[in-house]
Amino acid sequence: MSKIKIAELFYSIQGEGRYMGVPSVFLRTFGCNFKCAGFGMPRGELSTEVESIANRVVEFKDYNELPLVSTGCDSYASWDPRFKDLSPMLTSEAITDRIMEILPHNEWLDEHLVITGGEPLLGWQRAYPDLLNNPKMKALKEITFETNGTQKLTPDFKEYLRKWNSEVGKELTFSVSAKLPCSGEKWEEAILPDVVCEYEQVGTAYLKFVIATEEDRDYALKAASEYRAAGFKGHVYLMPVGGVESVYALNNKAVAIMAMKHGLRYSDRLQVPLFKNEWGT
Ligand code: SF4
Repeated sequence: MSKIKIAELFYSIQGEGRYMGVPSVFLRTFGCNFKCAGFGMPRGELSTEVESIANRVVEFKDYNELPLVSTGCDSYASWDPRFKDLSPMLTSEAITDRIMEILPHNEWLDEHLVITGGEPLLGWQRAYPDLLNNPKMKALKEITFETNGTQKLTPDFKEYLRKWNSEVGKELTFSVSAKLPCSGEKWEEAILPDVVCEYEQVGTAYLKFVIATEEDRDYALKAASEYRAAGFKGHVYLMPVGGVESVYALNNKAVAIMAMKHGLRYSDRLQVPLFKNEWGT
């Protein structure tokens, strides 16, 4: 039976993108190929906020006890190896049992599954078929992978997803949060249009760019045109930066206006005003 290292598994409302407002189970896998330490920092500087947390990691017995950060990656503990012991390795049976427990009717009704990270399309691709083939997952109709858009699908997993998505009533989505230079990651490693175009061969894909400044907007427009040039057909969203409410509130209206001006979609981050972006939301 396959196992997946799980940072978080919780039930909430999807706060971002196409499924904003939809009740959802979030499965946050462990591991990421990026660090995104540039978020919230002056250009060219990297956040060290997580260092002081990592130095006292032994104080935390549970993922949910970890402090939130206002710079760098807001889900740092889902990939930083110093926090790996807070993420158990669970069998697909244990994961599906837990999902049934947290669904309000202990079965799939209109809820959707979000497989997020970290970066959920790293090595776990080989484990998802076993998870999704579990009888308890049969009634699940909609899945979103929240990905940074850098990981190619393996041929086997691509074929599996193509079949899953072709079943009547099922819908597969890739929410691609491609990382702009404000993340601190390199353009040539983060903006990979061919990878995202491949996702469109097996489901619906859309791009979601995190915006803090007009410079970010300009990079988002540049990136969007590179994806389009490669054949990408999906929607493009602009989403305000801000894992904490004070930062989000400074940005959200300006980003909504930017999106309108450029004929792009606006994505909120409902989990910030509703739930303060706490773990498990
Ligand atoms: S890609 Fe996402 S999970 Fe990975 S470091 Fe960046 S923001 Fe964090």
